[in-house]
Amino acid sequence: MPEPMSACPSPLGTVCMDPACRLHFPQQPDPDVPMFEGKPVEATTLKVSSPTAGLEIDAVLRMDDIVRVVVEARVSQVNHQVNERTGALIRHQSAKVISAELIPWDATDPNDTGVLRG
Ligand SMILES: [Zn+2]
Repeated sequence: MPEPMSACPSPLGTVCMDPACRLHFPQQPDPDVPMFEGKPVEATTLKVSSPTAGLEIDAVLRMDDIVRVVVEARVSQVNHQVNERTGALIRHQSAKVISAELIPWDATDPNDTGVLRG
């Protein structure tokens, strides 16, 4: 939930120069998230989508096997949306998978191929 905006302490009709004024100097809750058009962004999302072509993983798999896969994804879209209910700005980020690789749970175990037989 966004904090309620306090009223501007500067006299009406003057230019507000008070950095403590949250109305004219909004603060970004998380400084790592860039503001959008001067407005604080409350949260970020990341949607990772699969590539249009299938990725090749060189392993023979059976039903109920569990595979440990690390994917690399390239960010393909960033846009901002107002949450209609809370009024908060959300930064939506989308990425498309560009590669995938089987990764062992324990890299020191030569029998760990990244496939757990089901
Ligand atoms: Zn102000």
